[in-house]
Amino acid sequence: MEKYLAELNEAQRAPVLHKDGALMVIAGAGSGKTRVLTYRIAYLMNQGVDAFNILSLTFTNKAAREMKKRIANIVGNSEAKNLWMGTFHSVFAKILRIEADKLGYPSNFTIYDTQDSQRLINSIIKEMGLDKDVYKYKQVQSRISSYKNSLITVKAYFNNPELMEADAMAKKPRLGEIYNEYCERCFKAGAMDFDDLLLKTNELLNRFPEVLMKYQERFRYILVDEYQDTNHSQYLIVKALSDRYQNICVVGDDAQSIYAFRGANINNILNFQKDYDDVTMYRLEQNYRSTRNIVNAANSVIEKNKSRLEKVVWTANDDGNSIKVHRSVTDAEEGRFVASTIFETKMQEQLKDGDFAVLYRTNSQSRSIEDALRRKDIPYRIYGGLSFYQRKEIKDVLAYLRLILNPKDEEALVRVINYPARGIGQTTIQKLTIAANHYKRSIFEVMENLNRIDLKINSGTKRKLEDFVTMIKSFQVTNQSADAFVLAEHVTKKTGLLQEFKKDGTPEGIARMENIEELLNGIQDFVEGQKELADASGDLSEFMEDIALATDMDKDAGDDDRVALMTIHLAKGLEFPYVFIVGMEEDLFPSAMSMNTRSELEEERRLFYVALTRAEKQAYLTHAQSRYRWGKLIDAEPSRFIEEIDDTYLEHLTPPMDSGYRYKPLIDSDIFGDVDKSKLRLRKPSAGTPPSHHKPSEEKLRKLRKIKPDIGEPVANNNLFDDDLVVGNKVEHSRFGKGEIVKIEGVGNDKKAEIRFDNGGIKKLLLRFAKLDVI
Ligand code: ATP
Ligand code: MG
Repeated sequence: MEKYLAELNEAQRAPVLHKDGALMVIAGAGSGKTRVLTYRIAYLMNQGVDAFNILSLTFTNKAAREMKKRIANIVGNSEAKNLWMGTFHSVFAKILRIEADKLGYPSNFTIYDTQDSQRLINSIIKEMGLDKDVYKYKQVQSRISSYKNSLITVKAYFNNPELMEADAMAKKPRLGEIYNEYCERCFKAGAMDFDDLLLKTNELLNRFPEVLMKYQERFRYILVDEYQDTNHSQYLIVKALSDRYQNICVVGDDAQSIYAFRGANINNILNFQKDYDDVTMYRLEQNYRSTRNIVNAANSVIEKNKSRLEKVVWTANDDGNSIKVHRSVTDAEEGRFVASTIFETKMQEQLKDGDFAVLYRTNSQSRSIEDALRRKDIPYRIYGGLSFYQRKEIKDVLAYLRLILNPKDEEALVRVINYPARGIGQTTIQKLTIAANHYKRSIFEVMENLNRIDLKINSGTKRKLEDFVTMIKSFQVTNQSADAFVLAEHVTKKTGLLQEFKKDGTPEGIARMENIEELLNGIQDFVEGQKELADASGDLSEFMEDIALATDMDKDAGDDDRVALMTIHLAKGLEFPYVFIVGMEEDLFPSAMSMNTRSELEEERRLFYVALTRAEKQAYLTHAQSRYRWGKLIDAEPSRFIEEIDDTYLEHLTPPMDSGYRYKPLIDSDIFGDVDKSKLRLRKPSAGTPPSHHKPSEEKLRKLRKIKPDIGEPVANNNLFDDDLVVGNKVEHSRFGKGEIVKIEGVGNDKKAEIRFDNGGIKKLLLRFAKLDVI
């Protein structure tokens, strides 16, 4: 046997060596599905299949690059480089460029991103004279996008009275017209949007049999990773291309289907056997990635889903540590726990920053984690999104704040002078810029002196410019007395930034609003901390200085040894030795927007299964008792998913809460619909399969159940202090109320006490300023 084949277990080798025909591997996380796909490609090539005849579709282009590297190691670089590998979008964009003329497009067609699409739809709505509060452009865009992904073309739309009626009922009878106009304008502009890349590929393959044949002949072997998350449009492309030779290999895990909200269809797995003449099913059961505790914990969670295919996942790996659960009082403290645990573990175990990942449900959660990592000088990288402080909406708010401190800051001024839109056009901005250059003054100064310079600006626009100046000046006045939080909150309201996002109501709009909310929370936190310090006041200039550090570090890209921060959706298929799943709270994870039906909740549970199974050695689940939302502390309950893990696999670093919280009842529904699951024959037990749950010994159980007291970091030796305040003292603070001292550090004027307050988090206070009474 060739050497690389020995790197597979028997169950993995079978699909790798499988002769021609259709095969499907459905198996749990970490069982080697991606490895099977990779090795199968190498094997095919070793058997003489030309790289030119193989097409491999992956979830990310990064995954494709890694697979290619591994294959190159086995078959050699020159062979591997001809492989077609990548995401559906990237591969089919390439094919569309080759065949563009058939569809009437130039081969150098532009690809519109979502923002481009939205902008175009917005102007169409305006031109048609429609009410923009009824026809919200982002909603219209997402409606058009879902039509495209279901292959409902404009023509199909107008042939479908039900769809038209549904839109009319939703008070948008002219949606079809917008759809039509949008498609015509894209076509005229030689542009395709993201959804077109799949839709037009389908059109190409349907309308031109000779083109279909050409690619069927070319891609004699097609392999698809993460098959459970393909949508209808992608499914049809794969089906059409593989129809001739039927050499199709798909791997996936129904338990990791997490894109239903974007149209991914679990029935693609279930229908596979019907679609091809002779399908062989393979199962993999051994997990190589994670410790036994993690594997078993993940099993115990996913078992709670009713809609699922029964699978066995076991591992021969060590038990490993229990999954650690940590409760903090606030989200900021959660961030500090993550940062200090990473710091300490890295030291103790001689690890790299790149061995750690922090996973969260929504992008806005990265802020408190980023802040904590930054303060501990731990390098991190945000994947699949901009670093928090680089996001557009955050930069917009910061631009206003910069202007308050320095109205000459032209970049900031140009960014927000007409954002949110206030009728100050490009021509006006140009005139101002020219005048500023001529008089060698800033644009803002020119704006302050409009009555003394004749810029040929009409009186209406002039008034708008003056209003803007007045607004910024009024902020400057506020800044003289208010702290950074009060000021920033005032600015987001007065400028109309918040309303801008509030009124659009799309998921993107909500995400933007949440990000601004997060920014305000961060400022609030910062201000509270500063106010306890001797020589700080928590004003805007202090905050902006603090922020400057954040952006400086973000610029420093290049090396990959950083803590990875990303949403769980993005983490699919990846693995890390240490994984923190943060924000394990009801309404956050599971998300408040996905808790109404059983099928929504089950998708959240699959998401949690994905998160947990990313960890190789150690998983941490953290939750906060309260989170700042709109500057207010909101109570948060621990996520039901923590409770759902079999207790034997958990170690509570803080005492678990018994809140008596009751979860909302669910509306019953099922992702599998009426498909007969038993046809998949996944239940057939294989000989010699070890039990899926390995129970630890009684002694181990006792140890695991032992709960550590919640005392945070080790307490310093009290004898070092001559003060009468010691760890354990109960104290009362004029603002924060009652609490207990958990740590004392520093000497003399720098002596600080860390106090856990009964109702508002842990605070570190400088003793010479803190107004504390011992009680
Ligand atoms: P996911 O469901 O998360 O996508 P997967 O089923 O694709 O997981 P892989 O990523 O292919 O699993 O494999 C998980 C880990 O186990 C990888 O680090 C892989 O290299 C390793 N692995 C897989 N099979 C073997 C094997 N036979 N021997 C040693 N290591 C293996
Ligand atoms: Mg995989």
